[in-house]
Amino acid sequence: MKNQLNNQNIPHVVIVGGGFGGLRAAKRLAKAPVRITLLDRNNYHLFQPLLYQVATAGVSPTDVAYPLRSIFRKQKNLEFRLAEVAGIDLDRRTLNTTNGRLEYDQLILAVGGETNYFGMESLSANSFGLKGLDDASRIRDHLLHLFEQAALVSDPQARQALLTIVVAGGGPTGVELAGAISELIRLVLAKDFPNQDFSQARVLLLEATDRLLAMLPTGLGEATVKALKKKKVEVRFGATVDSYEGQVVKLRGGEIIPTHTLIWAAGIRSAAMVDSLGLPQAAQKRIKVEPTLQVSGHPEVYVIGDAAYLEDENKAPLGMVAPVAMQQGEHAADNIVRKLRGEAQTAFQYHDPGVMATIGRNQAVAWLGPLQLQGFFAWLAWLVVHILQLIGFRNRLLVLINWAWDYFFYDRAVRLITGSGKKQPRPKLERGQLQKP
Ligand SMILES: Cc1cc2nc3c(=O)[nH]c(=O)nc-3n(C[C@H](O)[C@H](O)[C@H](O)COP(=O)(O)OP(=O)(O)OC[C@H]3O[C@@H](n4cnc5c(N)ncnc54)[C@H](O)[C@@H]3O)c2cc1C
Repeated sequence: MKNQLNNQNIPHVVIVGGGFGGLRAAKRLAKAPVRITLLDRNNYHLFQPLLYQVATAGVSPTDVAYPLRSIFRKQKNLEFRLAEVAGIDLDRRTLNTTNGRLEYDQLILAVGGETNYFGMESLSANSFGLKGLDDASRIRDHLLHLFEQAALVSDPQARQALLTIVVAGGGPTGVELAGAISELIRLVLAKDFPNQDFSQARVLLLEATDRLLAMLPTGLGEATVKALKKKKVEVRFGATVDSYEGQVVKLRGGEIIPTHTLIWAAGIRSAAMVDSLGLPQAAQKRIKVEPTLQVSGHPEVYVIGDAAYLEDENKAPLGMVAPVAMQQGEHAADNIVRKLRGEAQTAFQYHDPGVMATIGRNQAVAWLGPLQLQGFFAWLAWLVVHILQLIGFRNRLLVLINWAWDYFFYDRAVRLITGSGKKQPRPKLERGQLQKP
């Protein structure tokens, strides 16, 4: 093994990012005559679709992440390095990383995306994003802490602000979060605080347009609104957030909503490090790639997944979703192998496996080819797909046990305030607002 990794005559493929795309690319190259260095700033692969469950105390952070070294333990031609890439010298084919410089012959850039606040500083400073494990733990801590504080407060206005949770963005993440937070409050926290009346708690889902889950057929979007309303989520259309300084959400048009919680699920863009590369960018600042996934003028550089911008045959941009990243990872790897064999590069073609989103207990929507599902069967399909896609038997088993427990006992296993996420200032209460013991 060492021989292959140290042999400078074997082409060196560097993959930046061990997410959905990078992982697939690395695995696809397992038998190729190349030496691979996989770089990530984290030592784990993260299953982002279940982050909202970490944020709402359903599963533990360790259940949705898996160590990259463990995944690639048996892959002889791959070496993992924990390092953050700060910049790339495309002409010299060199990466600047937090752990030194690294040269490559072929590069697969799979750095993913990050929350997009569209330059609104009050939002980036005061709202919660949901992109990494820290974000999810921070939201969980914050939500649980709010209810502990609400239990101590008698002032009705202060209490209402604590018990008002605002989620912005009617895409899958916003819908899943809003549904899960409402269930956490009404099915679980209501039991944990038997002497408290949390009926005034509000979960608002704000959407700037006039529909939820815009990528789904209108009927499924409408079914989602109905299901959320049944779960006591207030869905507001045409609601655009203007600013949030930590106390009140200000909407365009002047309305204000007093709250200590704004979760921002209304924007995503490519990872900001790609801005420094000087490459052409398109919507969501994603790097424009050729149909072969190469960058124009740099045929040795492939960009995939959320960081890449490519249109389908109808000129619609491919979505920032896991199946696109995974299929592109495999395609980029195949194109590198073709290049080494002296064969022509081929164009990427996306095979859409369908879209699904869960709204909570027994409720989901799914669009799978000709099939449009909603309700219980869509929810079952969602459960199966997500369990199967998790990496590692242990994680699958733990998540399954947690879900079964929650389902039968109306519980959430991970209701812990651990302070493990990044620090977020907790709402400060005035003396007069506290209940007398
Ligand atoms: C909350 C949430 C829910 C989602 N739900 C779904 C869903 O249900 N279905 C679905 O299909 N998609 C979903 N997505 C989208 C999906 O997760 C992404 O489309 C997918 O992860 C993109 O894969 P990627 O490989 O491009 O990037 P990622 O999977 O994000 O991986 C990027 C990797 O690059 C690393 N990295 C980034 N910058 C650097 C750097 N400078 N140096 C070193 N390493 C770096 C990161 O640590 C990460 O490991 C969801 C996303 C989120 C945030």
